[in-house]
Amino acid sequence: MTFDVLPRKDRVLLFQILTKAFTLSSFGIDLSNQSVYDFLPKNLSKDTYDFVDTISTFLSGRSMKETSAQRVLWGSSLLRDSITQEQFDAMIGRSDPKKLQSTELIPISFLPSHLHASLQARMTKVAQPFTSLERLATNDVNGSQGYPRKGLKALLNSILYSLPETVEIKKECEVKCILVQNEKVLGVEADEIYTSDIVIYTGFATELPRLVECFPTDYVEDLKGIVTSKSLTIWLGLEKELPEFNYTGSEIWFKDFAYWAMPISNYDPSLAPNDKQLIGFSFVIDNKSDDQEIKKAYDTIFRAHPNIEKHIEMHHEQITIPEKAAVTIDGKFADIRTPVRNLYVAGTDTDKRSMGITRASYSIIELLKILTEDGNLN
Ligand SMILES: Cc1cc2nc3c(=O)[nH]c(=O)nc-3n(C[C@H](O)[C@H](O)[C@H](O)COP(=O)(O)OP(=O)(O)OC[C@H]3O[C@@H](n4cnc5c(N)ncnc54)[C@H](O)[C@@H]3O)c2cc1C
Repeated sequence: MTFDVLPRKDRVLLFQILTKAFTLSSFGIDLSNQSVYDFLPKNLSKDTYDFVDTISTFLSGRSMKETSAQRVLWGSSLLRDSITQEQFDAMIGRSDPKKLQSTELIPISFLPSHLHASLQARMTKVAQPFTSLERLATNDVNGSQGYPRKGLKALLNSILYSLPETVEIKKECEVKCILVQNEKVLGVEADEIYTSDIVIYTGFATELPRLVECFPTDYVEDLKGIVTSKSLTIWLGLEKELPEFNYTGSEIWFKDFAYWAMPISNYDPSLAPNDKQLIGFSFVIDNKSDDQEIKKAYDTIFRAHPNIEKHIEMHHEQITIPEKAAVTIDGKFADIRTPVRNLYVAGTDTDKRSMGITRASYSIIELLKILTEDGNLN
């Protein structure tokens, strides 16, 4: 409501639409088959459509016509799939329900499944509508963005630290074939043959049929339904901290070629040399020539921030598929179990929740649950 870049009338309409979506969702109505575009009133200004289209593209990798309304609710953290320790305690009758303050969140996936339905109902009724609509009204969603201190490497180092010394990691060792006998996994073939009772595949699920010959045709057909999108991130190292990037959080350019930018050294100064600044500008790109897209991206950045060009000391362009499946209305996701016994798939094409590393982590939580159910994890 306070976002005065959009006409006031449109903001009121958007707020009403979000409230409606939020209420429907709170009553358990699944909005995953309705597109954001279908959900919108048809008399908004072009700026508002551009804005909604941009947000949809960054939440799912696809336009507002292909992004589901549900995705906006989850991706914008208006709905949550985690609760605080105090909320959990209150719901199972261990403490006072009015004390609902904590920074530690328990993902729903960690809770025993028989508690899900009743907890979800009570969470929605008691805590969520207020906290979420309040966040929306006050624009206080900054808390949902963060950056690991010392960057991604810190996460990797923590994982390495947690592993026992008996673990051996092989790098630069591509698995060329997954070995199967009598519909059960036997191991993998890489630089040599490794036999194993369990194989967990984390590459693109769409590539799995290349590694396993004996999959049923309908499984292979289903995997073809997974859709992806491509991203370009331009990293700029600035010789000094610029006043226009003096915030924590992100900024979105939503006209023409949209970007999502984040001055990540504001979260952790060690991500840039002393008194300098590192900013990442991410674009969703299509399959045109990469060089053309890179040029267009720089033009957009310099148009949005004419002052920035003369302060650039370092630049790096990174083109990737940031998540292995885009959350669209028709797009498919892979199951963690495959038709081959003890061959599992994990990663961002097996779970629709959240984005990026958080989504990859959700998939691991599900994987651990399934390994336990199958008696493969004690
Ligand atoms: C520039 C950039 C910035 C990003 N920033 C953020 C961010 O700030 N926050 C965030 O949450 N997310 C971010 N992401 C997204 C996040 O990194 C990914 O979504 C996440 O890493 C995907 O996890 P995954 O397990 O699905 O796949 P991956 O991380 O790609 O892991 C798959 C692994 O499987 C291995 N593999 C595949 N095939 C084989 C094979 N045949 N043999 C052996 N190994 C194989 C690959 O080598 C790889 O190590 C960013 C991504 C990019 C590109």
